[in-house]
Amino acid sequence: MNRSMIEALARPEILALKAYVSARNSATDQGVLLNANELPWSSTGLDAGEVPELKLNRYPSPQPAELVEKLSRIYGVQQNQLLITRGSDEGIDLLTRVFCRAGQDAILQSSPCFGMYGIAANIQGAAIIDCPRSEDDDFQLPTHNLIESLRQESRIRLVFLTSPNNPTGDLIPKNTLTRILDSAANQAIVIVDEAYIEFSPEDSASSLLDQYPQLVVLRTLSKAWGAAGLRCGAVIADPCLIQLLARIIPPYPLPAPSIALALNAVQQASQLEAISKLKERLIEMLSARSWVEKLWPGAANFILVKVDHADNLTRCCAEQGVQIRNFSSQPGLDNCVRITVGSDEDLDRLEAAFGIYEQQGASTDAQ
Ligand SMILES: *Cc1c(COP(=O)(O)O)cnc(C)c1O
Repeated sequence: MNRSMIEALARPEILALKAYVSARNSATDQGVLLNANELPWSSTGLDAGEVPELKLNRYPSPQPAELVEKLSRIYGVQQNQLLITRGSDEGIDLLTRVFCRAGQDAILQSSPCFGMYGIAANIQGAAIIDCPRSEDDDFQLPTHNLIESLRQESRIRLVFLTSPNNPTGDLIPKNTLTRILDSAANQAIVIVDEAYIEFSPEDSASSLLDQYPQLVVLRTLSKAWGAAGLRCGAVIADPCLIQLLARIIPPYPLPAPSIALALNAVQQASQLEAISKLKERLIEMLSARSWVEKLWPGAANFILVKVDHADNLTRCCAEQGVQIRNFSSQPGLDNCVRITVGSDEDLDRLEAAFGIYEQQGASTDAQ
């Protein structure tokens, strides 16, 4: 796919849009600033000494240079291949609004998968074409069906893939991804959501960007970086695609405190080894249970587990103050729960809740 195809796939309204030019976009943020109707001083109730560098009276930079520089270095891409967003959620929303015409276009996904792809499509009025995975197949990506759908459905503008996938934890092999990218050429943008890639041994798909301008990679600080509260993610793609998204992102998407704290967060020591140990403990805790029918450890910081009674287990854990995610009501995930890897104390609490579940189960059986 050549680069002009990216524009050909975008909604004509977005191509024609004259993007809003903000004060911070159109002039330097140095010197005397009388161009953005801000107060000349901060009045946030915070002591100036506490957060002197934040200058909360000022609008923040739309794409703060230092953070763009840091994230592009971390992700191994060029600065013009990256757009910082309020989490990957915003990236998903921007992509859907740039490429899907309401009532005409569609997204392609493979459920069970992250729910926001479908929600973004629904909000935009795009159809959802789904190639479901099957438990019998260990939830592997149905590559053949996805490629068939691309062949049969000219409406598809976006293909949402996730590696590792949520909630099944599986990785997409590189040659599977390139097959899908080849099938999508000239027709659709292929998004690889890598929210959990740091937990896995795999490299990012972003190394394929030069070869495949139709590829988009989503990264986030929310999972492996332990900074979900900052709402900071990145869309990584061909500069031409990044510029299209930049046209519709709100003028000042990133709050100044988030920018400052994100710079801090990416300098902290990696927690990956600690999480990996805790994940082993969680797997061990689950492996010994008679009520666990199957588990998919996956490559992320959670485990998908099939149990005897997902509703009962989820309720029992909640009664003990431990929240796990019940996926029972989702197609293909009968009696499945997803459990996030927590701290040792969290897992102690979970283990205690399992003990109570087993006592209750034993008494129910006796009745
Ligand atoms: C958690 C998650 C996200 C959300 O990321 P934010 O950056 O916090 O918006 C995106 N994709 C998947 C698959 C996730 O599980």
